[in-house]
Amino acid sequence: MIKILEKLLNLIYIKVCYFCGSQKDDALICTKCYSKIHFLPPSVNRKINNVNVYCVAIYDGIIKELVKALKYHGKKQLASVVADLLFKYFLSLNLDKKEFIILPVPIHKLRKRERKYNHMDLVAREFSILSKYKYNDKFILRIKDTKKQYNLKKQERILNIKDAFDIDEKYMPDKSQWLLIIDDITSTGTTLCEIIKLLKENGYENIIALTLATPDIWN
Ligand SMILES: [Zn+2]
Repeated sequence: MIKILEKLLNLIYIKVCYFCGSQKDDALICTKCYSKIHFLPPSVNRKINNVNVYCVAIYDGIIKELVKALKYHGKKQLASVVADLLFKYFLSLNLDKKEFIILPVPIHKLRKRERKYNHMDLVAREFSILSKYKYNDKFILRIKDTKKQYNLKKQERILNIKDAFDIDEKYMPDKSQWLLIIDDITSTGTTLCEIIKLLKENGYENIIALTLATPDIWN
């Protein structure tokens, strides 16, 4: 009975664009708002600890609104929009012949208690559906409750994030596995740097990172 009701609701329910309220495209982001995103070319944005880091777009306008809504305002449904943006970009990189394990950047358990969820776990799950790659949200642990990074200068960020992560050996992927770290924003790259360092110390060599956005100036 509930299943039938759900199907009926899906038939009559039209998705509204989160950003402008338009119902025209029956999507959480309409084509007009989508066209306002400042996409970056499908190439390496930078290298961190010798790992290729790819960024989908500039952190401004729609992308800024999208991240904030998903991360802080409980708009969990927007995880599918982020995953879709990441996946379309990922496909354009032509790396998809490899099998990856998706690793979302974790948040500390206190933050998770406060926000009720880690938005990147939700994105990883959606990305996994699109890509058919497995995701692992238990392997990397956030063991230090760090301060919010955006108010800090580069040196303070490095200190803040130092030793913030650890691994759970119970959930270790095979060492030969290709790993795909996903995150929302890369600015100074200190978070990714710490995670990559940790993975390399544990014998992983096949790593790439994909993030939704980067500010055009990050120093
Ligand atoms: Zn719109």
